[in-house]
Formats: sequence, C-alpha cells, structure tokens
Amino acid sequence: MKRILSGIRPTGGLQLGNYLGAIRNWVALQETFDDCLFCIVDLHALDTLADTSTLKNDTREMAAAYIACGIDSARFPIFVQSHVPAHTELAWILGCLTPLGWLNRMTQFKDKAGKNQENALLGLYAYPVLMAADILIYKATHVPVGEDQKQHVEFTRDLAGLFNRTFNVDFFHLPEPMIFGEAMRVMSLRDGTVKMSKSDASDYSRINLLDDADTIALKIRKARTDGDPLPDNLENLKDRPEARNLINIYAALSGETAAQICVQFAGSYFSTFKKDLSDLLIAVLEPIGAKMHQLLREKDELDAVLQRGAESANKLANQHMQEIRNIVGFL
Ligand code: ATP
Ligand code: MG
Repeated sequence: MKRILSGIRPTGGLQLGNYLGAIRNWVALQETFDDCLFCIVDLHALDTLADTSTLKNDTREMAAAYIACGIDSARFPIFVQSHVPAHTELAWILGCLTPLGWLNRMTQFKDKAGKNQENALLGLYAYPVLMAADILIYKATHVPVGEDQKQHVEFTRDLAGLFNRTFNVDFFHLPEPMIFGEAMRVMSLRDGTVKMSKSDASDYSRINLLDDADTIALKIRKARTDGDPLPDNLENLKDRPEARNLINIYAALSGETAAQICVQFAGSYFSTFKKDLSDLLIAVLEPIGAKMHQLLREKDELDAVLQRGAESANKLANQHMQEIRNIVGFL
C-alpha cells in the first residue's frame, strides 16, 4: 500500500515556484498513487507568522490553488492540519522520545533562528517533530518534498524507528522522501541566484498565481536580463543565471527541455523571447487564476471541500491514534 502525504504552509501569495516545484508534481502523482492526502499545514505557519489576521484567507487561497491546479478533491482529501487534532497529539508523544541532539542538527532551524537562538521559539525548534507526526499519523509511505525538507524526512524515519524500538512494535513504516526540488527550481526575476519565494520583499521578483495577464506581462518585461542574444546551447548560459532561469521557466511550462528552448530561440534578443514567455505564462496561469478567484468567491463550497477532507483525514488518523495510544500504554 503506497500513500502520499503532501503539504504547504498557508503563508499567503502562492507563486510560480510553488506551482512548478510542488503542486504541479502532486497533480501528476494522483495518477500513479491510489492514496494521496493533501494537507494545508497551518500549524506550521504559526512558527514564522507573527500576525494571524490573514491566516483564514491564506488557508482558503491554498485550498483554491490545490483545486485550480488540478488536485481532485472528489478522489482525495484536501484538508487543514489544525482540523485533525491527532497531528498534535502524536507530535507530543514523539516529542517525548526525541533527543535534543537530533533537533540540534536540523539545518532549517539554524538557518531560520539565525544568530539569536536564545530568542528563537520552541515551535520553530520542534517543527520537525510535528512534521514527523503529520507523516506518521497517516502511515504515509512517500513524501514529496523540496531538497530543503529532505533532512526532516530523514528525521521522521529515525523517529519512526525509535518509536518501534522503544515500544517493541513494528508499527510505523519508514517513509521515503520524493525529491522534485532540484529538477525545477524557479529563481527570482530580480536576481537569478536566489530562489523565487512568496516572502521576498519585492513583488517584481515573482509571478503570483493570482497575477492578471497585464501584471504577468509587465513583470516579465521588467525581469532582469542582459543585452546579449540567446545562445544555441546551455553551456553558454552558465554565467547568465537570469537568462537561464527564464529559459528554464519556458521549458517547464512548454514541456520541452531547456536545451530545446535554447535551440529554438538561438540568436533572438530578450525582447522577442520575453514576449513568447509571457504569452505562455498567461496561457497556463490565467485559467488557474480565474478558477481560484471563482472558488474564493464560493467560500461555502470551498469550506465544504475542506470539511469533507477533514472528515476523511480524521477517520484514518483517529484509527491510527487509537492503536498508538494502546501501544504507548495509555488507559
Ligand atoms: P516562504 O518564502 O514562506 O518560505 P516559499 O515560496 O519558499 O515561501 P514554501 O511554503 O517554503 O514556499 O514551499 C512550498 C513548496 O514549494 C515546497 O515544496 C518548495 O520546495 C516549493 N517551492 C517554493 N519555492 C520554490 C521555487 N522557487 N522553485 C521550486 N520550488 C519551490
Ligand atoms: Mg520556503
């Protein structure tokens, strides 16, 4: 039995990288896995979110994006993490087994906490434990993640093994990370050496899934490039990260390889290439944005999808949670 668990934090403003690097892959996975769970991990959003006033909207926007991009909510649950209390219950149990030394090795904590670790929050430190619970509560076998989350899946495997040994059971299977991150890493439109992200201060650094056609065209026109024409091979793009990024985006959207796109546009200037790229982006993103807007207008229906998702996720999670309580020894 193969089961996939996927999740994104609802931190607002989905961008092209989230689509090409994550959601689009999940849409494809629906065809090969008979059991998929699509979670909106709002509890994980708390550890970097000081202001929760937009959380409800951001959560609905994420649900709308899942559906608009092609996740089939009739076949698979789309649900909100905080609607399934077993995540946090299991996280506490796992936390009581987790050596601090394991958490101290997590690079994401070091990166996000920065120099001032005394003021870093417990939630950020314990993030990997909750993520392990997210995965293990469903006994997921595969977890599609970016390169940055691979360490947390390894941690989950270690913790699953530790649980089994501690209670002398063979309850949790070790989940496998599925890495798509390297295949498609979308970079900022302002700086080809940093990744496109929804938290970048400049809106011109990214294409948002809810950008309209004019905005997309403007952002691509303004995207940083150089004055040279495009070469006919990727080798000559080595020192031109912005150009390489635009080629990669074009290739990802058109389904061709970056090398093929290079050949196709060899000798063209960016004015020509950018026009074609923005047409392609608009062709792909406009229907997604329109569908998202429509879903966001029909809030009750969207909430009903999330409620159905929560019911089916809770059913599976509670079944496992009952077994876990027995294994641990609670009355
Ligand atoms: P934040 O700035 O809040 O970290 P983000 O835009 O980086 O937001 P995440 O919530 O960290 O988004 O990531 C969600 C998913 O999207 C992850 O699977 C991640 O690997 C993928 N992803 C994010 N940005 C990119 C990108 N630029 N290229 C490819 N994949 C990306
Ligand atoms: Mg990120």
